[in-house]
Amino acid sequence: MLDVGRHPNIELMAYTHVERGEGQSGDFTVTVRRKARYVEEDRCTGCGACAEKCPTVVSDAFNEGLGTRRAIYSWFAQGIPSTHTIDPDHCRQLNGKKCGVCKKTCQADAINFDQEDRVVELHVGAIIAATGYEVFDPSIIPEYQYKEIANVVTALEFERLLSASGPTGGHLDRPSDLAIEADIEALEKKAKRSQRALDKFEEKYDEASPEFYEKYQNGEYGHDEDRKKWASKYGAHMAIAEPLEALRRRAEGFAVAKRLAFIQCVGSRDFRFYPFCSSYCCMHSIKEAIIAHEHEPETTSTIFGMDIRAVGKGFEEYKVRGGNKSAITYVRGRVAEITEAPDHNPVIWYEDTCERRVKSQEFDMVVLATACAPGKGIKELTQVLGIKINEFGFLKTNPSQPLDTTRPGIFTCGCAYGPMDIPESVAQASGAAARVAQILSEFEMRKAS
Ligand SMILES: Cc1cc2nc3c(=O)[nH]c(=O)nc-3n(C[C@H](O)[C@H](O)[C@H](O)COP(=O)(O)OP(=O)(O)OC[C@H]3O[C@@H](n4cnc5c(N)ncnc54)[C@H](O)[C@@H]3O)c2cc1C
Ligand code: SF4
Ligand code: SF4
Repeated sequence: MLDVGRHPNIELMAYTHVERGEGQSGDFTVTVRRKARYVEEDRCTGCGACAEKCPTVVSDAFNEGLGTRRAIYSWFAQGIPSTHTIDPDHCRQLNGKKCGVCKKTCQADAINFDQEDRVVELHVGAIIAATGYEVFDPSIIPEYQYKEIANVVTALEFERLLSASGPTGGHLDRPSDLAIEADIEALEKKAKRSQRALDKFEEKYDEASPEFYEKYQNGEYGHDEDRKKWASKYGAHMAIAEPLEALRRRAEGFAVAKRLAFIQCVGSRDFRFYPFCSSYCCMHSIKEAIIAHEHEPETTSTIFGMDIRAVGKGFEEYKVRGGNKSAITYVRGRVAEITEAPDHNPVIWYEDTCERRVKSQEFDMVVLATACAPGKGIKELTQVLGIKINEFGFLKTNPSQPLDTTRPGIFTCGCAYGPMDIPESVAQASGAAARVAQILSEFEMRKAS
């Protein structure tokens, strides 16, 4: 990635939307919209001082909504270019309110609220569509209750929880616990505000609120209007403080998730959704279970799957090592249902096909290995570029030239083509680049002759 950013022959246009692709192989005109960041890329040093001071807190899509970011943000820490961007949907200043804190904070003078989108025309000989995939939405499988049971998460959400730069700093905190911790934080803020109001009365009358309130309840202060206000503020404060205390007591028992279940083929190899195998999920579940065990040696994982497809050099050995050294148990069987036990523990109901028995098991967290679905924007892209998709929604290619789309001069690679892991995507990307070099050199030779 860093090499791409520094390469003299590569111009990186991040935060850019392809609007039109016209012409033919060897001579395309591509119109792109470079979206306004409201931050000058060449001035921003990526120091993050602006984001530290920005008062607007927004759910962080990069962390799958498990954490928050500010209205001025960088998509993720190692991103190229390492510039910040203002989110125009949430920024106060860009929505007609007074703010501009980031502009005052930025020492590089990079903030520019007047920046506008730029439409740029590119003249290129060939195009490679490498637009990737989308994670299948498991909420349409009712039996897994993804939306209803907080501790049932997708593999991508689990990866963010495992990541040292993720919302929990790599601790496997359970989403149900995180929700309670967020409630505690919100109530603490409210309690602080209401305590400030009480402090004024306590100072004025030189008396603590609980003692005052008891006397007030006993009718000691009659109809004194000021004291009536104090009593009402104290009542409102207690309406916050009591549930806050109860939540704090609950949070004392919180621990990281140690009993993990992974459910394979969620949306894949399922004729209701995608009949194909997504090819990478067996291996990422094993990887995630191994990493979780490295983080916390008491962690045990059970991987439920029809079979484990460890197809690749060294993959089978990795699977066996996971079982022997990282406390992974492989259970052959399709999970029928997930229910919820007390304490938000998910319970898995499955048929053990080896023993031919229906069983259930309780876990701290369940991870769904979701299918590799076609990218959300792929239909729009095919219209813009005049190319076609196949029956599953990935880019259609020529069986005898598998990286060629249905329009000469436009190629594809990676998960825009179909499900595949990173090494395979990288190998295909090299193949697509070689196809481009091949047709462009043919053009050059024809021009020269
Ligand atoms: C939870 C999980 C864990 C995984 N772990 C591993 C692992 O450990 N090892 C491994 O080998 N594989 C892993 N994979 C698979 C891996 O994610 C894919 O193989 C890889 O991301 C495919 O790369 P890609 O470049 O084809 O697509 P992507 O990574 O999806 O990249 C496509 C890029 O194109 C951008 N884009 C989309 N549309 C447009 C557009 N119209 N204009 C401009 N840009 C656009 C997207 O924003 C994205 O940045 C994992 C997958 C999941 C879901
Ligand atoms: S103007 Fe205010 S709300 Fe907008 S990004 Fe800057 S600090 Fe955040
Ligand atoms: S890779 Fe494994 S989990 Fe993913 S679809 Fe194929 S068999 Fe199922």
